[in-house]
Amino acid sequence: MKIKVMSENLANKIAAGEVVEKCASVVKELVENSIDAGATHIKINLEAGGLKKIEVIDDGIGMDKEDAQLAFARHATSKIYKDDDLYFIETLGFRGEALASIASVAEVNLITCNNDTGTHVHIKGGNIDLVEAYGASIGTTITITNLFYNTPARLKYLKSEITEANNCIRYIEKLALSKENIAFTLTNNDRVVVKTSGSGNLLKCIHEIYGLSVSSNMLEIKANTDDFEISGYISKPSVLKKNRNHLNTIVNGRVIRNSDINRAINDAYNTYKHEGFYPIVVINIVTDPTLVDVNIHPTKQDIKISMIENLEKLLYNTIKKVLYTNILVPNALIEDTFSNSTPNLENTEEEFQTIIQTKFDFTNNADNNVISKNVELKKLDLYPIGQIHGTYIIAEDEESMYIIDQHAAHERINYEMITKKYRESKVDITNLLIPLSIELSTSEYNTFLENKEVLTDLGFVIEEFGINTIIIKAHPTWINKGFKNDDLKSIIDLVIENGKKFNKERFLDSLAKMVSCKMSIKANEKLSFEEMDALLKDLVKCDNPYNCCHGRPSIIKFTSYELEKMFKRVI
Ligand code: ZN
Ligand code: ZN
Repeated sequence: MKIKVMSENLANKIAAGEVVEKCASVVKELVENSIDAGATHIKINLEAGGLKKIEVIDDGIGMDKEDAQLAFARHATSKIYKDDDLYFIETLGFRGEALASIASVAEVNLITCNNDTGTHVHIKGGNIDLVEAYGASIGTTITITNLFYNTPARLKYLKSEITEANNCIRYIEKLALSKENIAFTLTNNDRVVVKTSGSGNLLKCIHEIYGLSVSSNMLEIKANTDDFEISGYISKPSVLKKNRNHLNTIVNGRVIRNSDINRAINDAYNTYKHEGFYPIVVINIVTDPTLVDVNIHPTKQDIKISMIENLEKLLYNTIKKVLYTNILVPNALIEDTFSNSTPNLENTEEEFQTIIQTKFDFTNNADNNVISKNVELKKLDLYPIGQIHGTYIIAEDEESMYIIDQHAAHERINYEMITKKYRESKVDITNLLIPLSIELSTSEYNTFLENKEVLTDLGFVIEEFGINTIIIKAHPTWINKGFKNDDLKSIIDLVIENGKKFNKERFLDSLAKMVSCKMSIKANEKLSFEEMDALLKDLVKCDNPYNCCHGRPSIIKFTSYELEKMFKRVI
């Protein structure tokens, strides 16, 4: 009998290594249990980032005396009854053994109460050594101390207090964004670090997590196909982060990580933002649970989705359209929101009311307003005043003053011209007076030949010429002045760089970006009045006149009001 208990304990310890690797994984398991218990308020208290203590208090349904002890038995779970159910997992936790695993490597105090009985259970190293009746209000409080005290090898893997705390914060923030109807409070060493109100309003939840500078710059998205329904908020390209951590995607209520989804989101921002920066998004995806395979990793974040290409397309097109209809000229006084502004936890309610009043018109179809605004801007009649430092054009219209970056503007014009040319069936070509021969290494040569068609389809005339050498005889006419023949070499390089996993769309986009940059007026180039005028006329005709194709701003606006403010004519 004793032997059996020991081996089970060992199994739990091994499982703990799989499920519990840091304080955040303990928090995750406990909080998911609270959610499954129907809690509407969940409070997580950490000491030293969880290294000393992790306590989770919820107002869920609680357990009776029997369940309170069973909860720590391996494979005990109230959530799965038969094998079939595995395919219809809609609750968050389903592995059952998590609690047993945690209990096997820590000291646990559980106080729980359902309608009629309150119970206190104490467990150390997986052994229940105390069960007593205990007066408590309905819900469960579970306290974990001395994590990994009996597995020193694991203990080593725990990180510093700050890292462990940050992992927990990031996890709770993401979770809170997926459960906007649950109020979460996370404290570390008695300091409140995350607090949401459980209002059921996603934008408000975003506000509580990210603060005013983010919540006031979010755009709503909503779309569906037969298989997928998406909704949520995406940040304007003026609000970006330096990493992908804030691409929050939630599938059927579960926070997930999926690189295909992240790529589709990021691609939709192409040319609207700097490369290497990422937007903040919170997107809920609802789909038939049979299309989702969540069981591929014990931490349950990575998932497989059937028909993911359809989902990618839906995300890409929806985000692109919302950005397109909402992109406006950045105002001169716009706040720089690259910073890591954290919300002021005391004033969030008040701040949120102001955004609701000033930024969002929930009652009205905001979409129509935005489209007409965009069209208005495109009809702008910009009148050039002059050029400064050979780089910027100053222009005005009746209401505002504008500063235009001449290179960025010209690059945008060229980029849109080229991407339009791609779609035309008739191709005009320019023959080179002196064909350009390019020598490559054997592997480059082979990679190039494999993908050569992508260029010949565009109108390039390229022939093989001796060993590892190609010769360019003609190129499409849309490559024009500003682009030196020697630069054709970099087009060949681009084909080779895209190499093995060649993706035609990606290649064509980077080709358009490269060619348009090389063809465009540089900084420090004097322009005549007529040239400036023509440039501005072409710019306002663009689909997105506000950024160069790499996402840098091309035009900045100073309204008369802003000028008056700067000169203190108005206060
Ligand atoms: Zn450029
Ligand atoms: Zn650029």
